[in-house]
Amino acid sequence: MFKRLFNELALTFDISPNEAPLLIKSGRESGADPTLLDMNFVRTIHPRTGKMTVYLPGSSLKGTLRSYCEKIARTVRPDGGSKWCCNPFDQDVRSTTAFCGKRLEQRNSDSKDKENSAHWNQERDKQEEEKKSDGAVYRGSCVACRTFGNTRLASHLALTDAYSLDVPLLEQRDGVAIDRIFSTVAAGPFNMEVVTKGTFRATMSLRNFQLWQVGLLAVALRELGQGRVPIGFGKSKGFGRMSVSYHKLEISYPGRFSKQEGTHDFSRELMDLATFDFSDKREYGLFPDNSELPLLTEKGHEIIDDGKFGRVTACWSDVASIEDILNSTIGHWRDCALSKWLPSEERSDE
Ligand SMILES: [Zn+2]
Repeated sequence: MFKRLFNELALTFDISPNEAPLLIKSGRESGADPTLLDMNFVRTIHPRTGKMTVYLPGSSLKGTLRSYCEKIARTVRPDGGSKWCCNPFDQDVRSTTAFCGKRLEQRNSDSKDKENSAHWNQERDKQEEEKKSDGAVYRGSCVACRTFGNTRLASHLALTDAYSLDVPLLEQRDGVAIDRIFSTVAAGPFNMEVVTKGTFRATMSLRNFQLWQVGLLAVALRELGQGRVPIGFGKSKGFGRMSVSYHKLEISYPGRFSKQEGTHDFSRELMDLATFDFSDKREYGLFPDNSELPLLTEKGHEIIDDGKFGRVTACWSDVASIEDILNSTIGHWRDCALSKWLPSEERSDE
């Protein structure tokens, strides 16, 4: 299935430090270079101006969103174990919170061992093929991995690097590390380069998604935007609290030459992956979302692709409509979290 493309969502948002310094460390310490501070903000060439600039790497944002989504998921289903939400740092396959990537790799090598020691036959070959298939990997991946990927499954979510729209305000802060026992300065003082003002624009895209995934991301983005999910260095010092403002949302259905198909209107409905028909759908163990599909708000609604180019895309650029659409998926996440459903390595129809 994931060699095909059913639905796509692209959310462009602006993210700014919210009355707190922000430091995404570059890893370049002063060392022999006296012009550098002890801790420096990560820099790259701005794609528009061509000048060196501080920026927020997409990987930092993605990591922050992933770990927050994991925390929420584990909180709502504490008994779910690694099938519900794994721990990417737990590389022990016998553990109840083992990383899905590791667990799925182990499963693959176990079946190879069996193949080597037993009679090779067609049936086993078939099973082996099935275990390696996209569907089996997706089916055996937890809710976090289904969105953010693992070592066996490509991420369905991508985040661009966030570049500044204005000239960010850089300041220098001094810090020390305090000895826990003697309450004296254990290390430092060291100086840090922080951003205290600036607006950075990023785009998050999600492909082949279920509505519960959008709902979970909507919750995490809201928390990020309220300063409750800090990013970067110095979280315990109060660094990295951000505000988020939505700029543009696009919902697309690639490979469609018409807005209407059967009873569905691609320009008016937010369609869950499970709504589409495809031959190996059962292999993927999707959450059976039985709730009604959200209807897309007509406010601020603009159709930028009507099927002429084999794609239907609707777009919104007012904050209230974008929030309405994102919020309409939170119930789908709630239904998924409160249901008995768990991702499973076994096919449900077996
Ligand atoms: Zn996982």
